Amino acid sequence: MKLILLGAPGAGKGTQAVRIAEKYNVPHISTGDIFRKNIKEQTPIGVVAKSYIDKGQLVPDEVTCKIVEDRISRADCQNGYMLDGFPRTIAQAEALDKITNVDLVINIDVDFSLLLDRICGRRVCKDCGETYHLKRLNGETKCARCGGDLYQRKDDNPETVQSRLDVYNAQTAPLIAYYTEKGLIFNVHSDERPPEVTFEKIAQKLDTLLK
Ligand code: ADP
Ligand code: ZN
Repeated sequence: MKLILLGAPGAGKGTQAVRIAEKYNVPHISTGDIFRKNIKEQTPIGVVAKSYIDKGQLVPDEVTCKIVEDRISRADCQNGYMLDGFPRTIAQAEALDKITNVDLVINIDVDFSLLLDRICGRRVCKDCGETYHLKRLNGETKCARCGGDLYQRKDDNPETVQSRLDVYNAQTAPLIAYYTEKGLIFNVHSDERPPEVTFEKIAQKLDTLLK
């Protein structure tokens, strides 16, 4: 299964991605995670990526597309993969079309009024990528899934979030129409209920696809 997860920052792409990867045994490819790893290791890609990510802007398409192309050509992607956070522009989607055919685009649609609080209170496991909200952690500093340390992403602050939401509206939201035209979109709504509610709907859809 070749899947794409689409949605605004804070919509819960990462949260669903962790669950989909586990249940359907597909590699979870998050361009954001790949960039953060490169930043941590201070690679040349990391240096470029950091200058954009810290401002809430997109990393240029050439850099991003190359990374994804390399990643999905690896052996573990032969039977499918799940792209989380890619494509984010029409140009990226067109580049992807040239190298592969996806089976489904899961669009996580969310009420924008929830996003600021979700993003600014978000804590992420450095080992498995699971995300938590500060409000529900009750002071816990380790991941309930794997015991890894939780941290706050540097770009999860009110200043950067507005620019990320603007970028989403201008550059990423048009992908919904792009994939709707191709008949590939599956819309799922995410609200204040636990992520399992959204995951159930996604799993139902994926199970019918696999039949
Ligand atoms: P979120 O969905 O919460 O914004 P991500 O981890 O997906 O988080 O992305 C973090 C940042 O990494 C983005 O704000 C952007 O700067 C950069 N990034 C991630 N994916 C892409 C992409 N496909 N194209 C360009 N930049 C990207
Ligand atoms: Zn974890």
